[in-house]
Amino acid sequence: MSESTVAFSDLNLNSAILKALKQEGYESPSPIQAACIPLLLNGSDVLGMAQTGTGKTAAFALPLLDRINLKLAKPQVLVLAPTRELAIQVSEAFQAYARHMKSFHVLPIYGGQNYGLQLKALKRGPQVIVGTPGRVLDHINRKTLDLSEIQALVLDEADEMLRMGFIDDVETIMAETPKERQTALFSATMPDQIKRISKRYMHSPQEVKIAAKTSTVENIEQVYWKVSGTNKIDALSRILETEEYDGVIIFARTKTATVELAEKLEARGYAASALNGDMSQNIRERTVNRLKSGKLDILIATDVAARGLDVDRIDVVVNYDIPYDTEAYVHRIGRTGRAGRKGKAILFVAPRERRMLYAIERATRQKITEIGLPSRDIVTQKRIEAFKEQLVQVFAAEDLGFYQQLSEQLSEQLETDPTRLASALLYLAQKERPLQLPPEREPRQSNERRDRDDRGNSDDRQGQSKTWDRYRIDVGRDDGIEVKHVVGTIANEASINNRFIGHIKLHDSYSTVELPEGLPQDTLDHLQSTLICGKEMNLEFLDKTRSSDRPGGRGKNKPRVKPHHKKPNKRRDNRNS
Ligand code: AMP
Repeated sequence: MSESTVAFSDLNLNSAILKALKQEGYESPSPIQAACIPLLLNGSDVLGMAQTGTGKTAAFALPLLDRINLKLAKPQVLVLAPTRELAIQVSEAFQAYARHMKSFHVLPIYGGQNYGLQLKALKRGPQVIVGTPGRVLDHINRKTLDLSEIQALVLDEADEMLRMGFIDDVETIMAETPKERQTALFSATMPDQIKRISKRYMHSPQEVKIAAKTSTVENIEQVYWKVSGTNKIDALSRILETEEYDGVIIFARTKTATVELAEKLEARGYAASALNGDMSQNIRERTVNRLKSGKLDILIATDVAARGLDVDRIDVVVNYDIPYDTEAYVHRIGRTGRAGRKGKAILFVAPRERRMLYAIERATRQKITEIGLPSRDIVTQKRIEAFKEQLVQVFAAEDLGFYQQLSEQLSEQLETDPTRLASALLYLAQKERPLQLPPEREPRQSNERRDRDDRGNSDDRQGQSKTWDRYRIDVGRDDGIEVKHVVGTIANEASINNRFIGHIKLHDSYSTVELPEGLPQDTLDHLQSTLICGKEMNLEFLDKTRSSDRPGGRGKNKPRVKPHHKKPNKRRDNRNS
């Protein structure tokens, strides 16, 4: 990413798409986009080694949109995705990129959704279908999905589809699409079965792999925070309040995000400014000079705008949005630790971005330590210290004669002792910017696609569902069933996040599966007739179980790393978070 100089306007995409990208705030193509877009525009098949966070969705969506015939109201692009969440996300991305393309329609189809509604939407003739394999195959079998005009097929997160037991469905669907179609396959890993499919169904695919160069990053302390519960901006505030820093650079993905973040931080009292490609060279230079001279402490930048930035003061880099690739990460954190100084790099990692974290660790050959957020007490303590500092400055520099007299008078008139009066004044002084953080909220369950990687981790499962309903299903080993088939089918058909699918036991002629207590009747009815390995499940309730009844569970409890905050912070008057 960091060294790529390609612009979206160099890629031959039509003006409607370029306009949408501008509105999205995308500054320049990510490496996978720069590599894939020309190939897919050319009609080549592409085999992309890429994970979430690399910008792979736009890498296939943009060129395929460019090739769509808007006058034809029939499916022309079919995207297969392993989960309902990804299908929705990809379909929203298509919608956003095509917002200036008149008569464009995209339709997500996934298990658990009402067939009637899907049929109605299919009749409207969407040009792009994004679906989970099971449901797409259902529609093919019912002859409700017309594949005759499919020009391009995308397999998104192919290794996940394999892991969830959908690969046979995927192959069947591939065989049903026109032979001369274009195919793009994206996968974070390339297991043999995926390679086999690519050989069998793709035409001389061009391989796109963004090389992960290994680089060393010395004298930079690297930590990460797993995004959960607290939202990112509140987390950032807490970190900035407790971290000791001189200059900070915060990396965000889009130009829009740099501006939003800068505004939010300024409102919280930080000397912060955005740095992005929408700003003229002149203003960018002035902004960097203000950072150099100490008029600004925090810059919020995109990768492109921060290229080559060399400011000795920067001692903390925050990767607010994870970079697209390891090279960009190394480039970003290289903005600190200049001139032999020490630096610190903080990375925000959403659960679905965990793979990128591992890739970074491999590329830098360094372990990145997990941190928690500074606690409410620590933040309060910091705010009190900063307030104390202000008082010391007032004692030293201001003539307090008038106020001293006034406070004596007030004390007398209000018949209150000086401490009580001081407490009331303190209360008033901090009212707009409280010294205390509000009490912790219960962490919210995030809607993000955190499902797949988290599965089987008893740490995550604890406290979420201790009592399970155990069911028998009519499909067993003799039918060729594997655990992944059960997980994949139930997750997609019943819309149950696969972290909420409990213990699965396979027997020869049947199997058992634990599901959350009290599932709605219509979900159970739907699962009754859902097929696994071609056989109806015939779900039948057996009993209730408790996860604590089982020794060990499916995963090991990981020790949580405690936050470590050793240094006092440097902070302006920025107490409200
Ligand atoms: P993906 O890897 O496709 O899941 O994309 C990850 C995130 O990066 C999404 O939020 C996209 O909107 C965003 N994104 C993709 N390409 C770009 C780009 N060229 N510039 C800025 N953000 C992007």
